[in-house]
Amino acid sequence: MLEGGGDAGAVRNVWSHRAGRWHKNPSRRLVDDLDALPFADPSDYFRYPFVRDFYRFTYPIMTGRGCTELCTYCVVPTQRAMYAGNGLPIRKRSPENVIEELLWARARFGARMFKFEDTLFLLGEEWVARFFALYRERVRLPFRGVARPAFLTDATVRELAASGCHSIICAYESGNEEIRRRVLGKRETGAAYLEAARRLRAHGILFQANNILGSPGEDLDRAFETYAMNVATRPVVVDSDVLRLDPGAPLSQLAEVRDRRPPATLINLQQIMYLCVALGLPQRVVRWLVNAPVNPLYFAVGRIAYAIGLKRSTGIPLVPFVRYGWHVARDGELVVEPDRWRNDPRPHAEALAAAA
Ligand code: SF4
Repeated sequence: MLEGGGDAGAVRNVWSHRAGRWHKNPSRRLVDDLDALPFADPSDYFRYPFVRDFYRFTYPIMTGRGCTELCTYCVVPTQRAMYAGNGLPIRKRSPENVIEELLWARARFGARMFKFEDTLFLLGEEWVARFFALYRERVRLPFRGVARPAFLTDATVRELAASGCHSIICAYESGNEEIRRRVLGKRETGAAYLEAARRLRAHGILFQANNILGSPGEDLDRAFETYAMNVATRPVVVDSDVLRLDPGAPLSQLAEVRDRRPPATLINLQQIMYLCVALGLPQRVVRWLVNAPVNPLYFAVGRIAYAIGLKRSTGIPLVPFVRYGWHVARDGELVVEPDRWRNDPRPHAEALAAAA
């Protein structure tokens, strides 16, 4: 439409900037039937060999849109509010439609391993049973995915194991019950995470744990409850970050997270968390280590350890893994910016307009 000289001001979902003024068009209605959409085509990215060779082994797939949860640090509550009354917030593709996309990706891009990116992946035991029956019959490639403990029932973990699941990513976020449930809005109990880890391990499935450090109300003692939860479950890799919020996320409205600079102890813990968990270091040793000034050694050692763990967790062959990692490092993504943890309290739309 724009190529033909049309008016962007008439296109729903599109904002335009004309004569010094923003024109904000209303949102388009959400598509209820996801099977009607074309498959996501990564051709533009796959023109670059280092991207293509890496993502062939972690080919991203979405089985649905939306989420059953409303975590306070996530973009989902903002999206839910933006589209209220304008379509179904939670939508799932049919198993047959997802299988068709996997086969297409295998034939067209040489996909060798898939990554299911959405938290709806394992929603609904009937969907799961139907999907994996088809997967075993027609796809037969290893895969990994994201899952909440509530979805990792005995039956589902058996389906995962029988279908070639390499690893599962579980977001612990915090080992402290109050922070996880009351501050971050996650409903799972600590016991549910422990049980999910035990189940996956019993079926030979690796798992990655994601953590958030520096949530409101978290002091160093509470951060060490997260460390303890990781040590107790021994994930194959631990991905920790200091709290950073999407603009407009419910938690970003709290005064205490605005313009906040996390203490050095938390930044240090973030850098060396995985290495210390992998070595099973006692807390008293880790507490001593995190009292050092923020330093490049922790950063370097932490990154190397994380890369090794991630390599195991993803199953990506060495050459594409190192090549992709080299590009990421060279482009500066591994540099810690001083403003990295600054949180923007404005609603998403306002922040976008200001940045434009
Ligand atoms: S953090 Fe994950 S589980 Fe929570 S609302 Fe966002 S997508 Fe859903």
